[in-house]
Amino acid sequence: MEFNTKLLHGNAVKRYPEGATLPPISQVSAFSYETAEDLEKVFNNKAPGFAYTRISNPAVDAFERRVCELEGGIGAVACASGMSAVTLALLNILSEGDEIIAGSGLFGGTIDLFEDLQEFGITTRFAKHITVEEIEPLISEKTKVVFGEVIGNPGLDIIDLKAVSEFVHSKGIPLIVDSTTATPYLVRPFDYGADVVVHSSSKYINGGGNSISGIIIDSGKFSWDYSRYKGLAKYKKYGEFAYLAKLRNGVWRNMGSCLAPMNAFLNIVGMETLGLRMDRICHNAYELASAVDGLNGVSANYPSLKGNPYEKLVQSQLNGLGGGILTIRAGSKERAYQLMNALNYALNATNIGDARTLVIHPASTIYIHNTEEQMRNAGVFEDTIRVSVGIEDVSDLIEDFTSAITALK
Ligand SMILES: *Cc1c(COP(=O)(O)O)cnc(C)c1O
Repeated sequence: MEFNTKLLHGNAVKRYPEGATLPPISQVSAFSYETAEDLEKVFNNKAPGFAYTRISNPAVDAFERRVCELEGGIGAVACASGMSAVTLALLNILSEGDEIIAGSGLFGGTIDLFEDLQEFGITTRFAKHITVEEIEPLISEKTKVVFGEVIGNPGLDIIDLKAVSEFVHSKGIPLIVDSTTATPYLVRPFDYGADVVVHSSSKYINGGGNSISGIIIDSGKFSWDYSRYKGLAKYKKYGEFAYLAKLRNGVWRNMGSCLAPMNAFLNIVGMETLGLRMDRICHNAYELASAVDGLNGVSANYPSLKGNPYEKLVQSQLNGLGGGILTIRAGSKERAYQLMNALNYALNATNIGDARTLVIHPASTIYIHNTEEQMRNAGVFEDTIRVSVGIEDVSDLIEDFTSAITALK
């Protein structure tokens, strides 16, 4: 089954009560049972069923199954936001004294998070890029995980998943990737050796900019050394499900980071067009980047543009598609603002993966809490505009951007 067919007819797409084509939005906190014995069985995983929405819910379960099937994992856990997915995927295996190796070109919120984790004794060592050469010198006895974004937002650097996962596995370390910007339409990171995938499903998976959510998917393939990952030892009996079992029974459940049933439903509706949208969005982004690069002192960064350092990796790993984000350097902050204000079809908004084209000036917004050096490493300069390309007709987008750029002084 190909991608778009799987979205509509995959194993995870069940028949729902009354022949409904979509799962019911079980907008309840709790589920009742005939007898105390029945509830006891559900609570102790001796019978299938739902007890309390913080722990599981039919609409959320349906969403988890669909994303899990697309990524080719063994299980998935939905979260209240992309940030909670990133946080919990890491905390599930980390404790005081441990170290993370992460890329620099990360989502600003994730860089902020790594600073917060420092207060709990978890240190992050940043590599400018997640490559074997750059992470090797950072690895120590304390390194418990390597974390990066498949396509960095907004750095737009791409991880060579196969090379990096082979290397980190040889050191007994798992690779956790945030694949928000790539989506399973461009790549299934597990096929290239990544161990755990997280998404901010608020973005392309939802696709309409109408709900905040996140999800963690496990490949089940990493062979955990239970003497190094001590917290997991208790879950050893679950075999390949040890990571997921700990997550569900531990930090995820107890920190209360559950996804609302309504948002799970909206994600399911939105993701049915994920393939269609990504195809359109990536083609639009390539055309737009090509049209504006070099125009009136403006340059564009887009992974599949000719001469981009990741051009080859886009072909070999991302199905030839460069994703939905491009960055533009306008020449100065003033010119960047002038350009953004002159656009008719691009909204000024801090989001990506909407059906609409969105623009933002990262240095004065999403990177406001980061240092100058963190900005540089993430490819954010005073004159950088991030464009999250939408599904509009590309001729209109090109006309809108080129006339705004041509008018720049
Ligand atoms: C938006 C985003 C996040 C955070 O997701 P929220 O749903 O906003 O919490 C994490 N990683 C990447 C790459 C993102 O774009």
